Amino acid sequence: MASPVGHSLIGLAAGHLTGRHLPVATWGWFWFVLLTANAADLDFVPGLLVGDMNRFHHQASHSLAAAAMFGVVVAVVARRYNCSARAWGLSGCAIYASHLAGDVIAADYGAPFGIPLWWPFSMDYVISPIPVFSSIHHGDASDTNLRVLAQIFSAHNLGAIGREIMLIAPLLLGTWYMRRRTVNDRTVTPDQAHKD
Ligand SMILES: [Zn+2]
Repeated sequence: MASPVGHSLIGLAAGHLTGRHLPVATWGWFWFVLLTANAADLDFVPGLLVGDMNRFHHQASHSLAAAAMFGVVVAVVARRYNCSARAWGLSGCAIYASHLAGDVIAADYGAPFGIPLWWPFSMDYVISPIPVFSSIHHGDASDTNLRVLAQIFSAHNLGAIGREIMLIAPLLLGTWYMRRRTVNDRTVTPDQAHKD
């Protein structure tokens, strides 16, 4: 798995790519992206409650079906608040799916390796044969919460996050620049408007 930092950065890149009709320069959009980009890892929460953080990790929430369902929920909520259901729903689905991409290309040292991308149609776990990100250590099955926390705040994970930042930063800058160009292209100055 990738870290929350890596997932957030990839999510921001996906948000820039799919946010053409969204208010991307607002704090509301920023927090929407951060929460959506890490939503799949909320599957740690039920495990935390039963003292075995990894028990429910990398299951149904890490699938394209979950990304699609998440997009539908976002669309329904957006419509409820008179926002563009299509724009918010599609972007939400894409940002959620960016989390899956981050986990597929990350190293994984705990079986089952990867994520059940095609759930519920297949329970096969998918992982890239060539890992791009280092694995984030978060304990093994049946480790106590204390031992899991010790691994989460380890030097290994700090190095893995540094590697993620170095690899994702160019992608994020590229998508941010494309987004800005799109906005500038759509902005018509008073002079241009007059000429038209
Ligand atoms: Zn994950």
